[in-house]
Amino acid sequence: MSDVQTKPVLIGKTQQSLREILQEMGQPAYRANQIYKWVHHHQVKSFDEMSNLPKTLRAELAEKFHLGNLTMATREVSTDGTIKYLWKTTGNHFMESVFIPEERRNTICISSQVGCALGCAFCATAKMGFLVNLTCSEIVEQVIRVQQDTGEKITNVVFMGMGEPFLNYSRVIQASHIFSDPEGLAIAAKKITISTVGVVPRIYQFTDESQPFSLAISLHASRQDLRQSIMPIADKFSLDQLMDSARYYTFNSKKRITFEYVLLEDINHSAKDAKGLISILSPLKCKLNLIPFNDTGLGFRTPSAEKIKPFYDILEGAPFTITLRKNRGNDISAACGQLYSKEKMTEKTPRFIKSRPTPIAT
Ligand code: SF4
Repeated sequence: MSDVQTKPVLIGKTQQSLREILQEMGQPAYRANQIYKWVHHHQVKSFDEMSNLPKTLRAELAEKFHLGNLTMATREVSTDGTIKYLWKTTGNHFMESVFIPEERRNTICISSQVGCALGCAFCATAKMGFLVNLTCSEIVEQVIRVQQDTGEKITNVVFMGMGEPFLNYSRVIQASHIFSDPEGLAIAAKKITISTVGVVPRIYQFTDESQPFSLAISLHASRQDLRQSIMPIADKFSLDQLMDSARYYTFNSKKRITFEYVLLEDINHSAKDAKGLISILSPLKCKLNLIPFNDTGLGFRTPSAEKIKPFYDILEGAPFTITLRKNRGNDISAACGQLYSKEKMTEKTPRFIKSRPTPIAT
């Protein structure tokens, strides 16, 4: 085993855990705050850059720790400026992040797990099955590395890459606090969006803890039977239970939820679907984000603009905001799980691909 795998990593450590580490090293507590800021706020690439630390401490830190541990395996740039990264972890797993530059904001879509247990029928990541939860360090490092690589300040973070963030709840929340900490990455909490397919107990927990981050729910169907046919999570938590938890969130947090709705040709954009959406979403403070399906070769297709129009026309009468998301990075497979799949499908090591989703643990 190389020392890359044996040395602990400083990215993703809280100030409290750094204080404990520094205490063990016989250092004063204030050094923890200095190191935390060098790692997360200034995002230095070497211990030598930590100029307010004594040289002896810098040397000791370099001997005992790594700053981060992700290896960039692939970097693909789209004609629209979107950049897709494939990272290799020290556990030899691959996961991905997507950088999406826009005029007024720079968004990064990050992963929370390698693979996913939830088996959504239209999702490339689902085909991998669940492999591991990412560590807090691996979650935070995705943003730091992309910021270093692009030289651009990340303004928005969305947990919509590989995995279900609410099945890696404590690490996702810890990472999000490091993102929003003014001494950390200093990204506004409301610009950090955690997107779940509907792990209902965690929606209640997220609400009860008054987490300051934004919540998105991947809905994709307005009827229980249709949802069950494309999203196995609906077998465990019904659409009614999901909508109850969404109401609990909006009522208690006074915040708006974003519902994501991927448009799958001839599956979920009929007049009945549009009316169903109006019926279940109208009582809520919410926004509906329609997403044209990014073709992943899983047997689903993207509906044409003509096919979506009647559905959209009905929705225009809804009392909530509706947005139609532009697909970004189509030429580089920048949809959830797609770059990974493209890479791995060409390898002769199918150990990453499981045919059946593993059971849901909450
Ligand atoms: S869409 Fe999200 S929750 Fe569903 S299988 Fe893919 S990664 Fe998992």
